[in-house]
Amino acid sequence: MRSLVWQGPNQLVVQDSPKPEPGPGEVLIKVAYTGICGSDITIYRGFHQRAKPPLIIGHEFVGHVAELGPGVDDRLQVGDMVTAEPTFSCGTCKYCRSNLSNLCAGVGVRGVDGPGAFAEYFVSKQEKVYKLPPAMPLREGAVIEPLAVGVHAVNKGQVAIDEDVAVIGAGPIGILTAQAARARGAGRVFVIEVKPNRLKLAEKLGFIPIDGREDPVAAVRSMTGGVDVVFDAAGALASAGYLVPLVKKGGRLVVVSIFKEAPPMDLRTMAYSELSLCGCFIYVPQDFHQAVELASSDKVDLASVISHEVPLADAVRGFELMEKADDSMKVLIKIS
Ligand SMILES: [Zn+2]
Ligand SMILES: [Zn+2]
Repeated sequence: MRSLVWQGPNQLVVQDSPKPEPGPGEVLIKVAYTGICGSDITIYRGFHQRAKPPLIIGHEFVGHVAELGPGVDDRLQVGDMVTAEPTFSCGTCKYCRSNLSNLCAGVGVRGVDGPGAFAEYFVSKQEKVYKLPPAMPLREGAVIEPLAVGVHAVNKGQVAIDEDVAVIGAGPIGILTAQAARARGAGRVFVIEVKPNRLKLAEKLGFIPIDGREDPVAAVRSMTGGVDVVFDAAGALASAGYLVPLVKKGGRLVVVSIFKEAPPMDLRTMAYSELSLCGCFIYVPQDFHQAVELASSDKVDLASVISHEVPLADAVRGFELMEKADDSMKVLIKIS
Protein backbone atom coordinates (compact mmCIF):
# COMPACT_ATOMS: atom_id res chain seq x y z
CA MET A 1 0.00 0.00 0.00
CA ARG A 2 1.08 3.61 -0.57
CA SER A 3 2.17 5.33 2.64
CA LEU A 4 4.03 8.37 3.92
CA VAL A 5 7.04 7.26 5.91
CA TRP A 6 9.15 9.48 8.13
CA GLN A 7 12.72 8.32 7.63
CA GLY A 8 14.43 10.82 9.97
CA PRO A 9 14.73 14.62 10.39
CA ASN A 10 13.44 16.43 7.26
CA GLN A 11 12.93 13.13 5.41
CA LEU A 12 9.37 12.24 4.44
CA VAL A 13 9.02 9.67 1.67
CA VAL A 14 5.95 8.35 -0.14
CA GLN A 15 6.65 4.62 -0.50
CA ASP A 16 5.10 1.16 -0.47
CA SER A 17 4.58 -0.49 2.91
CA PRO A 18 3.03 -3.89 3.76
CA LYS A 19 -0.77 -3.75 3.91
CA PRO A 20 -1.85 -4.52 7.51
CA GLU A 21 -4.19 -7.45 8.25
CA PRO A 22 -7.00 -7.11 10.80
CA GLY A 23 -6.55 -9.54 13.72
CA PRO A 24 -9.29 -10.72 16.12
CA GLY A 25 -11.49 -7.79 17.17
CA GLU A 26 -9.80 -5.47 14.67
CA VAL A 27 -11.10 -3.48 11.73
CA LEU A 28 -9.27 -2.68 8.50
CA ILE A 29 -10.04 0.88 7.35
CA LYS A 30 -9.38 2.22 3.86
CA VAL A 31 -8.20 5.74 4.61
CA ALA A 32 -9.67 8.60 2.56
CA TYR A 33 -8.21 11.75 4.17
CA THR A 34 -5.63 12.35 6.89
CA GLY A 35 -4.97 15.78 8.39
CA ILE A 36 -1.56 17.19 9.22
CA CYS A 37 -1.18 18.01 12.93
CA GLY A 38 1.36 20.33 14.53
CA SER A 39 2.86 17.22 16.13
CA ASP A 40 3.40 15.71 12.65
CA ILE A 41 5.48 18.79 11.76
CA THR A 42 7.45 18.33 15.01
CA ILE A 43 8.16 14.71 14.00
CA TYR A 44 9.04 15.67 10.40
CA ARG A 45 11.57 18.24 11.59
CA GLY A 46 13.11 15.77 14.06
CA PHE A 47 12.09 17.49 17.31
CA HIS A 48 9.54 14.98 18.63
CA GLN A 49 10.60 13.33 21.91
CA ARG A 50 9.10 9.89 21.26
CA ALA A 51 8.80 9.21 17.51
CA LYS A 52 11.42 6.81 16.10
CA PRO A 53 12.04 6.35 12.34
CA PRO A 54 11.07 4.64 10.13
CA LEU A 55 7.45 5.45 10.93
CA ILE A 56 4.17 5.92 9.06
CA ILE A 57 2.93 9.09 10.74
CA GLY A 58 -0.60 10.65 10.90
CA HIS A 59 -3.43 10.28 13.42
CA GLU A 60 -6.32 12.51 12.24
CA PHE A 61 -8.20 10.59 9.59
CA VAL A 62 -11.44 9.44 8.03
CA GLY A 63 -12.11 6.44 5.80
CA HIS A 64 -14.37 3.46 5.18
CA VAL A 65 -14.45 0.00 6.72
CA ALA A 66 -12.70 -2.36 4.25
CA GLU A 67 -12.61 -5.62 6.21
CA LEU A 68 -13.67 -6.96 9.60
CA GLY A 69 -11.31 -9.20 11.56
CA PRO A 70 -12.58 -12.36 13.35
CA GLY A 71 -15.04 -11.67 16.17
CA VAL A 72 -15.93 -8.08 15.28
CA ASP A 73 -19.60 -7.52 16.13
CA ASP A 74 -22.19 -6.38 13.57
CA ARG A 75 -22.20 -2.79 14.79
CA LEU A 76 -19.76 -2.14 11.94
CA GLN A 77 -20.22 -3.13 8.29
CA VAL A 78 -17.90 -3.03 5.29
CA GLY A 79 -18.37 0.37 3.59
CA ASP A 80 -19.28 2.34 6.73
CA MET A 81 -17.74 5.81 6.93
CA VAL A 82 -15.62 5.85 10.07
CA THR A 83 -12.91 7.56 12.04
CA ALA A 84 -10.94 6.03 14.90
CA GLU A 85 -9.49 7.24 18.14
CA PRO A 86 -5.75 6.80 17.49
CA THR A 87 -4.66 6.45 21.13
CA PHE A 88 -3.81 3.33 23.10
CA SER A 89 -3.02 2.63 26.75
CA CYS A 90 -2.47 -0.39 29.03
CA GLY A 91 -6.16 -0.64 30.01
CA THR A 92 -5.44 -2.03 33.48
CA CYS A 93 -3.58 0.60 35.56
CA LYS A 94 -5.20 2.93 38.07
CA TYR A 95 -5.42 5.76 35.51
CA CYS A 96 -6.94 3.57 32.81
CA ARG A 97 -9.50 2.23 35.31
CA SER A 98 -10.42 5.81 36.34
CA ASN A 99 -11.15 7.13 32.83
CA LEU A 100 -7.77 8.89 32.75
CA SER A 101 -6.15 6.72 30.09
CA ASN A 102 -4.36 9.82 28.76
CA LEU A 103 -2.25 9.71 31.94
CA CYS A 104 -1.35 5.98 31.68
CA ALA A 105 2.39 5.32 31.74
CA GLY A 106 1.88 3.30 28.55
CA VAL A 107 -0.22 5.89 26.69
CA GLY A 108 0.61 6.33 23.03
CA VAL A 109 -0.78 7.71 19.81
CA ARG A 110 -0.73 5.82 16.52
CA GLY A 111 1.37 7.76 14.02
CA VAL A 112 3.75 8.73 16.84
CA ASP A 113 4.29 5.55 18.87
CA GLY A 114 3.11 3.07 16.22
CA PRO A 115 2.04 2.95 12.56
CA GLY A 116 -0.25 5.85 11.64
CA ALA A 117 -2.81 6.92 9.06
CA PHE A 118 -0.90 8.59 6.23
CA ALA A 119 -1.39 5.28 4.45
CA GLU A 120 -4.00 3.56 2.30
CA TYR A 121 -4.96 1.21 5.13
CA PHE A 122 -5.10 1.49 8.91
CA VAL A 123 -5.96 -1.28 11.36
CA SER A 124 -7.77 -0.38 14.58
CA LYS A 125 -9.34 -2.19 17.51
CA GLN A 126 -13.12 -2.18 16.98
CA GLU A 127 -13.83 -0.28 20.22
CA LYS A 128 -11.76 2.66 18.92
CA VAL A 129 -13.73 2.87 15.64
CA TYR A 130 -16.63 5.34 15.35
CA LYS A 131 -19.25 5.08 12.64
CA LEU A 132 -20.08 8.51 11.18
CA PRO A 133 -23.46 9.61 9.80
CA PRO A 134 -23.58 9.15 6.01
CA ALA A 135 -24.65 12.79 5.57
CA MET A 136 -21.38 14.09 7.06
CA PRO A 137 -19.06 15.45 4.34
CA LEU A 138 -16.20 12.94 4.20
CA ARG A 139 -13.39 15.47 4.71
CA GLU A 140 -14.89 16.73 7.96
CA GLY A 141 -14.43 13.31 9.54
CA ALA A 142 -10.68 13.95 9.50
CA VAL A 143 -11.16 16.92 11.86
CA ILE A 144 -12.95 14.97 14.61
CA GLU A 145 -9.67 13.99 16.31
CA PRO A 146 -8.48 17.60 16.77
CA LEU A 147 -12.05 18.52 17.81
CA ALA A 148 -11.68 15.92 20.61
CA VAL A 149 -8.67 17.91 21.85
CA GLY A 150 -10.91 21.01 22.07
CA VAL A 151 -13.72 19.05 23.73
CA HIS A 152 -11.27 17.72 26.33
CA ALA A 153 -10.06 21.28 27.00
CA VAL A 154 -13.55 22.71 27.59
CA ASN A 155 -14.45 19.70 29.75
CA LYS A 156 -11.31 20.26 31.83
CA GLY A 157 -12.09 23.99 32.01
CA GLN A 158 -15.69 23.13 33.04
CA VAL A 159 -17.09 25.90 30.87
CA ALA A 160 -20.60 26.67 32.17
CA ILE A 161 -23.65 28.29 30.57
CA ASP A 162 -23.12 31.98 29.70
CA GLU A 163 -19.55 32.11 30.97
CA ASP A 164 -17.21 34.40 29.05
CA VAL A 165 -14.29 32.61 27.45
CA ALA A 166 -11.09 33.75 25.77
CA VAL A 167 -9.01 31.57 23.47
CA ILE A 168 -5.44 32.57 22.71
CA GLY A 169 -4.50 31.41 19.21
CA ALA A 170 -6.84 30.82 16.27
CA GLY A 171 -5.09 27.88 14.62
CA PRO A 172 -7.15 24.70 14.13
CA ILE A 173 -7.01 23.75 17.83
CA GLY A 174 -7.89 27.29 18.99
CA ILE A 175 -10.85 27.56 16.61
CA LEU A 176 -12.09 24.06 17.51
CA THR A 177 -11.74 24.82 21.24
CA ALA A 178 -13.73 28.03 20.76
CA GLN A 179 -16.43 26.07 18.91
CA ALA A 180 -16.50 23.36 21.59
CA ALA A 181 -16.82 26.08 24.28
CA ARG A 182 -19.75 27.68 22.50
CA ALA A 183 -21.40 24.27 22.00
CA ARG A 184 -21.10 23.75 25.78
CA GLY A 185 -23.02 26.99 26.33
CA ALA A 186 -20.35 29.66 26.73
CA GLY A 187 -21.47 33.30 26.55
CA ARG A 188 -19.10 35.61 24.73
CA VAL A 189 -16.10 33.87 23.14
CA PHE A 190 -13.09 36.10 22.47
CA VAL A 191 -10.40 34.81 20.12
CA ILE A 192 -6.96 36.43 20.31
CA GLU A 193 -4.77 36.06 17.24
CA VAL A 194 -2.06 37.94 15.34
CA LYS A 195 -2.64 36.59 11.81
CA PRO A 196 -5.28 38.64 9.89
CA ASN A 197 -6.77 35.65 8.00
CA ARG A 198 -7.29 33.76 11.25
CA LEU A 199 -8.89 36.80 12.90
CA LYS A 200 -11.27 37.01 9.95
CA LEU A 201 -12.15 33.33 10.32
CA ALA A 202 -12.86 33.82 14.04
CA GLU A 203 -15.16 36.72 13.21
CA LYS A 204 -16.91 34.78 10.44
CA LEU A 205 -17.67 32.00 12.92
CA GLY A 206 -19.32 34.51 15.27
CA PHE A 207 -16.53 34.84 17.83
CA ILE A 208 -15.23 38.22 18.99
CA PRO A 209 -11.88 38.70 17.22
CA ILE A 210 -9.18 40.39 19.28
CA ASP A 211 -6.09 41.59 17.44
CA GLY A 212 -3.10 40.20 19.29
CA ARG A 213 -0.85 42.88 17.81
CA GLU A 214 -2.64 45.56 19.86
CA ASP A 215 -3.06 45.24 23.62
CA PRO A 216 -5.41 42.20 23.69
CA VAL A 217 -5.67 42.07 27.49
CA ALA A 218 -6.89 45.68 27.66
CA ALA A 219 -9.37 45.02 24.83
CA VAL A 220 -10.91 41.96 26.52
CA ARG A 221 -10.89 43.49 30.01
CA SER A 222 -12.59 46.68 28.79
CA MET A 223 -15.52 44.57 27.60
CA THR A 224 -15.66 42.00 30.43
CA GLY A 225 -13.58 43.01 33.43
CA GLY A 226 -11.95 39.60 32.94
CA VAL A 227 -13.31 36.38 31.44
CA ASP A 228 -14.29 33.26 33.39
CA VAL A 229 -12.05 30.85 31.51
CA VAL A 230 -9.03 31.40 29.27
CA PHE A 231 -7.54 28.73 26.97
CA ASP A 232 -4.01 28.87 25.64
CA ALA A 233 -3.95 27.31 22.19
CA ALA A 234 -0.95 29.28 20.94
CA GLY A 235 1.87 27.80 23.01
CA ALA A 236 3.92 30.98 22.56
CA LEU A 237 6.00 32.66 25.25
CA ALA A 238 4.88 36.07 23.94
CA SER A 239 1.21 35.40 24.70
CA ALA A 240 1.57 33.17 27.79
CA GLY A 241 1.73 36.36 29.85
CA TYR A 242 -1.89 37.14 28.86
CA LEU A 243 -3.33 34.14 30.70
CA VAL A 244 -3.42 35.55 34.23
CA PRO A 245 -4.54 39.13 33.46
CA LEU A 246 -7.26 37.93 31.06
CA VAL A 247 -9.33 36.15 33.71
CA LYS A 248 -11.46 37.61 36.47
CA LYS A 249 -10.93 36.70 40.13
CA GLY A 250 -11.69 33.03 40.71
CA GLY A 251 -11.20 32.29 36.99
CA ARG A 252 -9.68 29.24 35.30
CA LEU A 253 -6.63 28.99 33.05
CA VAL A 254 -6.48 26.01 30.70
CA VAL A 255 -3.28 25.08 28.88
CA VAL A 256 -4.23 23.25 25.68
CA SER A 257 -1.02 23.83 23.74
CA ILE A 258 2.34 22.19 24.29
CA PHE A 259 4.92 24.87 25.12
CA LYS A 260 8.40 24.24 23.78
CA GLU A 261 9.84 26.35 26.60
CA ALA A 262 8.35 26.76 30.08
CA PRO A 263 6.82 30.27 30.40
CA PRO A 264 7.10 32.22 33.66
CA MET A 265 3.83 32.24 35.65
CA ASP A 266 2.55 35.03 37.91
CA LEU A 267 1.88 32.77 40.92
CA ARG A 268 1.46 35.82 43.16
CA THR A 269 -1.61 37.08 41.28
CA MET A 270 -2.83 33.49 40.95
CA ALA A 271 -2.85 33.26 44.75
CA TYR A 272 -4.43 36.67 45.40
CA SER A 273 -7.14 36.12 42.79
CA GLU A 274 -7.65 32.42 43.56
CA LEU A 275 -7.13 31.37 39.97
CA SER A 276 -7.09 27.71 38.94
CA LEU A 277 -4.59 26.36 36.44
CA CYS A 278 -5.44 23.25 34.47
CA GLY A 279 -3.29 21.23 32.07
CA CYS A 280 -4.53 19.17 29.13
CA PHE A 281 -2.98 16.15 27.45
CA ILE A 282 -4.62 14.54 24.42
CA TYR A 283 -8.16 13.45 25.55
CA VAL A 284 -9.94 10.46 27.03
CA PRO A 285 -12.39 8.17 25.17
CA GLN A 286 -15.43 10.08 26.51
CA ASP A 287 -14.11 13.28 24.91
CA PHE A 288 -13.68 11.51 21.58
CA HIS A 289 -17.21 10.14 21.84
CA GLN A 290 -18.53 13.67 22.53
CA ALA A 291 -16.52 15.02 19.58
CA VAL A 292 -18.18 12.50 17.25
CA GLU A 293 -21.62 13.53 18.55
CA LEU A 294 -20.79 17.23 18.23
CA ALA A 295 -19.46 16.73 14.69
CA SER A 296 -22.74 15.00 13.80
CA SER A 297 -24.74 18.02 15.04
CA ASP A 298 -24.97 21.49 13.52
CA LYS A 299 -23.26 23.06 16.55
CA VAL A 300 -19.78 23.07 15.01
CA ASP A 301 -18.40 23.96 11.60
CA LEU A 302 -15.53 21.56 10.93
CA ALA A 303 -15.11 22.58 7.28
CA SER A 304 -14.12 26.07 8.49
CA VAL A 305 -10.73 24.89 9.72
CA ILE A 306 -9.77 23.00 6.53
CA SER A 307 -7.66 25.30 4.33
CA HIS A 308 -5.92 22.99 1.85
CA GLU A 309 -6.13 19.53 0.35
CA VAL A 310 -3.18 17.86 -1.44
CA PRO A 311 -2.77 14.36 -2.87
CA LEU A 312 -0.57 11.81 -1.09
CA ALA A 313 2.08 12.10 -3.82
CA ASP A 314 2.48 15.80 -2.84
CA ALA A 315 2.46 15.19 0.90
CA VAL A 316 5.75 17.01 1.49
CA ARG A 317 4.28 20.11 -0.16
CA GLY A 318 1.31 19.76 2.19
CA PHE A 319 3.65 19.81 5.18
CA GLU A 320 5.35 22.92 3.85
CA LEU A 321 1.99 24.64 3.30
CA MET A 322 0.97 23.80 6.85
CA GLU A 323 4.21 25.20 8.20
CA LYS A 324 4.72 28.30 6.08
CA ALA A 325 1.63 29.40 4.12
CA ASP A 326 0.08 32.60 5.50
CA ASP A 327 -3.41 31.28 4.86
CA SER A 328 -2.92 27.75 6.18
CA MET A 329 -5.13 26.17 8.80
CA LYS A 330 -5.67 22.40 8.62
CA VAL A 331 -4.06 20.80 5.56
CA LEU A 332 -5.59 17.46 4.52
CA ILE A 333 -3.76 14.81 2.55
CA LYS A 334 -6.08 12.95 0.19
CA ILE A 335 -5.01 9.35 0.54
CA SER A 336 -7.50 7.55 -1.72
ZN1 LIG B 1 -3.12 15.92 16.30
ZN1 LIG C 1 -2.90 2.29 31.91
